[in-house]
Amino acid sequence: MTNVVGHLINGVVVNDTERTQDVFNPATGASETQVALASKKTMEDAIAAAEAAYPEWRNTPAIKRARVMFRFKELLEENADKICALIGQEHGKISHDAAGELQRGIENVEFACGAPELLKGEFSKNVGPNIDSWSEFQPLGVVAGITPFNFPAMVPMWMFPLAIVCGNTFILKPSERDPSSTLYIAQLLQEAGLPDGVMNVVNGDKEAVDVLLTDERIKAVSFVGSTPIAEYIYATANANGKRCQALGGAKNHAIVMPDADIDNAVNQLTGAAFGSSGERCMALSVAVAVGDEAGDALVAKMTEAMKGLTVGAYDNASNDFGPVITAAHKEKVQGYITSAEQDGAKIVVDGRDPKVDGYDNGFFVGATLIDNVTANMDSYDAEIFGPVLQVVRVKTMEEAMKLINDHEYGNGTCIFTRDGEAARYFSDNIQVGMVGINVPLPVPVAYHSFGGWKRSLFGDLHAYGPDGVRFYTKRKTITQRWPSSGVREGISMSFPS
Ligand code: NAD
Repeated sequence: MTNVVGHLINGVVVNDTERTQDVFNPATGASETQVALASKKTMEDAIAAAEAAYPEWRNTPAIKRARVMFRFKELLEENADKICALIGQEHGKISHDAAGELQRGIENVEFACGAPELLKGEFSKNVGPNIDSWSEFQPLGVVAGITPFNFPAMVPMWMFPLAIVCGNTFILKPSERDPSSTLYIAQLLQEAGLPDGVMNVVNGDKEAVDVLLTDERIKAVSFVGSTPIAEYIYATANANGKRCQALGGAKNHAIVMPDADIDNAVNQLTGAAFGSSGERCMALSVAVAVGDEAGDALVAKMTEAMKGLTVGAYDNASNDFGPVITAAHKEKVQGYITSAEQDGAKIVVDGRDPKVDGYDNGFFVGATLIDNVTANMDSYDAEIFGPVLQVVRVKTMEEAMKLINDHEYGNGTCIFTRDGEAARYFSDNIQVGMVGINVPLPVPVAYHSFGGWKRSLFGDLHAYGPDGVRFYTKRKTITQRWPSSGVREGISMSFPS
């Protein structure tokens, strides 16, 4: 019998099998699991549960809310192997890569454990005679998160641990392509002692999302996914009076300067371009070589390094990366490689049709290197989201920076150089939200915040960290005077100063 991944509502896993969708193992190309797609009734149950749980959770002391997160962190660590296996079976990433994603998720739980400190607020004594003023950060109510397939453990944990310790109740709509690890993680949070209804998971598609965007009981929406959907989510949530942060797609460039340590740059680029099959929003998918000498050395050494890469199934830890998520996505990635070739770029290493023994029907694409790419090619504009590194050759650093600044996305970028002045100029002037200097994947740690610029993020506040606390709370400022007995203030018609 096919296993159906259900929803977590009011502390209980429920199946609603009116509509379901196949979930594939991308390494075998087969589906042994289905995911339930929430109906309107299921959505209503989830929202009602979250709303009912809110008043008591809001008034639970922050230290007690944090204690649940301490226990949750322990359960995540104790059950890491199971979580990573579930990620591998449905997403396809290799176990070592899944472990890295889980660790970065856990770091967000650790940050959330600091809730009492994070929610302390601000206090000023004597802002006027006998007048004190303070700001406190109150929860919003029921808030929602909508997440992508590529980090089924980490990205949800960018959202719900912090939202929940801030006193909100939460409804998560994970990706329908790899829902099992996310649901299991939510069950662990329940096991950690969270009251029923504080954390709810609804699996589903656009139908479920649209309820979250329009129901007036939902106060805020965090979204991570592709740019066209992010734009839709942001516009619709705003039109319905909700606070929204919507993180979108990316095209991340690395500049390789003539003075860079090329061997180091090649090692870093290899992991950042092909790790997780390039299905990371921070993947480096374009290397911009400054000068022909750097370009020639980069392409030659990268070609050499790529000979050692193996693509294969998630459960063999010696594999470097796994399949892409679906058969349709494999075709899309192959299509972009072909379009680059047709546009005159040079396919130096061709991964369009890799052979993976024992996995003839898997959605595999091998590591691909394309040289002489130019900014007018479709393959340059698009987020390919596959194991494809494109090399663009330019003459100067200014030209390289202009390419990056002119691109519609501004998520991450990196410069490989030994020149501190160049690196400083780059980080100061580049129009990108997350910048690496000899660091290829500059994903901010949990106590900073994550977010791109331009069409990589719609909204004002970045995800998690200090911005996350601000996103999931609203400021209230109180000004207080306790007059001494018998003292009466006179009437004043002028503005208080
Ligand atoms: P996606 O946009 O297809 O889906 C994301 C979520 O939106 C899913 O939960 C999905 O069910 C829902 N969704 C899809 N279509 C919808 C519609 N028409 N209406 C309402 N909801 C809809 O993204 P994906 O393919 O799952 O993930 C990959 C994308 O996510 C890439 O573009 C990647 O760059 C991006 N991403 C961005 C970040 C970031 O922090 N900026 C992080 C991870 C992934």
